[in-house]
Amino acid sequence: MTDSCFSTGLVPFEQALKRMLVEIIPLTSTELVSLNNSINRVVAENICSPVNVPPTDNSAMDGYAFAASHTSDVPLNVVGKSMAGAPFQGTCKAGECVRIMTGAVIPDGCDTVVMQEQCLLTDEKVLLQTSVKPNKNVRHAGEDVTQGDCVFTIGRRLSTIDIGVLASLGIDTVKVYKPVKVALFSTGDELKHPGETLSTGDIYESNSYYLRAMLEKFGVEVISMGIIADDKEKISQAFIDADQSADVVITTGGVSVGEADYTKQILESLGQINFWKVAIKPGKPFAFGKLPNSYFFGLPGNPVSALVTAHQLVMPAIAALQNLVLPKPIYLTAKTMSSLRKVPGRMDFQRGIMQTDETGQLVVSSTGNQGSGVLTSMAMANCYIVLPQEEGHIEADKFVTILPFDQYLQ
Ligand code: AMP
Ligand code: MG
Repeated sequence: MTDSCFSTGLVPFEQALKRMLVEIIPLTSTELVSLNNSINRVVAENICSPVNVPPTDNSAMDGYAFAASHTSDVPLNVVGKSMAGAPFQGTCKAGECVRIMTGAVIPDGCDTVVMQEQCLLTDEKVLLQTSVKPNKNVRHAGEDVTQGDCVFTIGRRLSTIDIGVLASLGIDTVKVYKPVKVALFSTGDELKHPGETLSTGDIYESNSYYLRAMLEKFGVEVISMGIIADDKEKISQAFIDADQSADVVITTGGVSVGEADYTKQILESLGQINFWKVAIKPGKPFAFGKLPNSYFFGLPGNPVSALVTAHQLVMPAIAALQNLVLPKPIYLTAKTMSSLRKVPGRMDFQRGIMQTDETGQLVVSSTGNQGSGVLTSMAMANCYIVLPQEEGHIEADKFVTILPFDQYLQ
């Protein structure tokens, strides 16, 4: 493995992604889970429908069903009822109609429903108050899903909507990939958990909290290993324990070149480093490598840097490991309302607020302070402003590329 192919020692963003993805060998173990436990899990076989949805032709309205070809100006005799779950037994003939409710089976002999508001009912006879079109207000068998259609293919992450679709097909168990296990720990003598009391020089640990939340949305099993002090022995032991219990080890902090930054040294001694500096801002110190049993991602300690590198670099790698097919990111072009400070040399993921102006133009403004410790700038933002590596300072009113935040950040 080489450290870098870029003269500054920084690996360009796209190359960093590629260099991780070629190393990842997707996990193959699968399991069956009940529909109620399938949220965020990755489908391990194509799912094809065992039934038509809806199973029969049925009414989209409360009203009266009849054959369109049999209507005239003469009132129709109401010969029975078709209710949802209690179909009309029999055949509806010329001059007849059936009272029908939404979702009820269209009776034999009928092909049309007129809503009750457009019917005049007198003495069990219905006079239609509207012109009639065949098939009006009829939902046809299989119009949502036809039996045998594959609704989801391997690699799909099951969303809330997908769970509804599977239920509508009568499917109660799903074959999914076993979750990737991710061991997560933060390093830093200054870190305290929320709820604890801070001494002078301490700060609250935030990285592992949002990382856990983000990873769980990804259907990953998170093993939290807490806070590890800036002690080489303790961090080495944590690396060994994490490597034995997980497929992926993620650490935050200690990955740059400070006196208490041991991550790189330990990774080198226990495993292999692939690269450890990426040409992005925030997030330059980011290590990727391998431990004996796991993939290793060393994130910077600064909260925004750790969040952006987790989102932009770690998530695609974990997706590949758990066979998840991610949709391609949708980049948009927006006019910047603020000037954007930028130094050439790294690709920036600045925090932006996008909206449309009164003319419908997509515009974006900076959240202000882009410091990599300012986590509230991520909370205020709804998109990244993505500025190419070699770009410099950008004046207001120029067009820039933005990337809306996805569901893993929200
Ligand atoms: P480091 O990468 O360890 O040099 O940390 C860089 C900065 O991020 C320092 O100001 C740390 O105090 C801060 N930091 C490190 N880890 C965390 C964490 N888990 N949560 C919040 N801030 C952190
Ligand atoms: Mg530190």
